[in-house]
Amino acid sequence: MKVYVIGIGLIGGSMVLDIKDQHRDATIFGIDSNEKHLQEAIDLGVIDQAGSFEELADADFVIVSVPVDVALIVLPKVLDLVGDKTIVFEVGSTKKPICDAVASHPKRRNFIATHPIAGTEFSGPSAAIRGLFKGKTNIICEVEKTTFKLQEKALKLFSEIGMRIRYMDPTSHDKHIAYVSHLSHISSFMLGKTVMNKEKDEQDIFDMAGSGFESTVRLAKSSPAMWTPIFKQNKEHVIETLEEYISNLSRFRDLLKDENYNAIFEEMESTNKIKEILNGLTTTKK
Ligand code: NAP
Repeated sequence: MKVYVIGIGLIGGSMVLDIKDQHRDATIFGIDSNEKHLQEAIDLGVIDQAGSFEELADADFVIVSVPVDVALIVLPKVLDLVGDKTIVFEVGSTKKPICDAVASHPKRRNFIATHPIAGTEFSGPSAAIRGLFKGKTNIICEVEKTTFKLQEKALKLFSEIGMRIRYMDPTSHDKHIAYVSHLSHISSFMLGKTVMNKEKDEQDIFDMAGSGFESTVRLAKSSPAMWTPIFKQNKEHVIETLEEYISNLSRFRDLLKDENYNAIFEEMESTNKIKEILNGLTTTKK
């Protein structure tokens, strides 16, 4: 079994670590524009060796795991080169622009559009970890556009690394993910910025920050190189979520100005039901 991963960072790297655990006979080839990452991935045992685009005709699986703007360019090039038995999947955080980019490609049927809902705030091959996808959801878009046999091959692999599948159309994916992922990142980045701007003495922040602050601001450590193209590609949905969020923040500020503490209490109390929703999610994922 030959697996090629293009972009050996957190997601691509974690995925091939799990695949290798399930298929000891597999050879994992890495392709990355960053030579340092390529060498690091070999040294860390994330990949077996460096590969090249010219070899893709012979690949069983090709995982495209690069920033979403790069995926628009790399994915059609990969499809140009793969053989009939190759299944290509891409793991980017936006789906509509990616699906559109290959909609009329002659090898569209060799491609399956995915978004594994798993990750951390770290990047590069050193961020790759085993078991990242266990119990997590993999969103698959436009599955009917992938050859049935290759769908089965991909689904088997996703199941082997512990993922649950959810099917969705690309526009719905981009709309919903703007709320649960893209907005959370902006909120975390801007919270980090607000605190840093006001608290110039970083030592004070460090001394006073509790675990609440740390967990809320965790996503502000994420890579701008990865997130800028995501916001660009999902601009309309992200703006929609931001307007709702800003309106909620403004309302909270106004209630405080008006000393309407009953309303403030109710705002928080009604939002407390997020506990049950999140608990429900954890339970169904087990
Ligand atoms: P990452 O850790 O930064 O890895 C991406 C790798 O691709 C880096 O080594 C990067 O090198 C390399 N790269 C950039 N341009 C390239 C090119 N033209 N050709 C080949 N390699 C190239 O990023 P990641 O977090 O794994 O994210 C990869 C994809 O997964 C993104 O599309 C992202 O939207 C998606 N995703 C991320 C998460 C998450 O939580 N991070 C979750 C689900 C899905 P440089 O560092 O030098 O640019």
